[in-house]
Amino acid sequence: MSDANADSLFCKILAGDIPADIVYESETVLAFRDINPQAPTHVLVIPRKHISTINDVGVDDHVIVGGLYGAAREIAVTEGIAADGYRTVMNCNAAAGQTVFHIHLHVLGGRALAWPPG
Ligand code: AMP
Repeated sequence: MSDANADSLFCKILAGDIPADIVYESETVLAFRDINPQAPTHVLVIPRKHISTINDVGVDDHVIVGGLYGAAREIAVTEGIAADGYRTVMNCNAAAGQTVFHIHLHVLGGRALAWPPG
């Protein structure tokens, strides 16, 4: 898997070609507010490396994927949702509703979240 993919919307955000409301960044990760928020806090955490789906995560990518959760934890604190609770979700392929094929961890909070999801 290449490190960039011109077709990936989120690669364009990483390149600065499409604007985003960035809330966190590190050497390996970028996080920004979802353009269509489903909760008072709805942040997407993405790896700088282009990985299309969870199915494409290689053994060498495990530290990167772990970094998405480390970022989510920090974002939850800065967003003030850590204590009450929040949800992290990563959809994989069509049946789960994945629409952008560059893996992203949804961080949702600021309201009570129903379970199971639809
Ligand atoms: P998924 O359906 O899991 O692939 O999630 C894709 C998410 O990307 C959706 O929640 C969209 O609202 C969000 N999204 C799409 N375009 C943008 C954008 N330009 N900036 C921020 N979020 C976006």
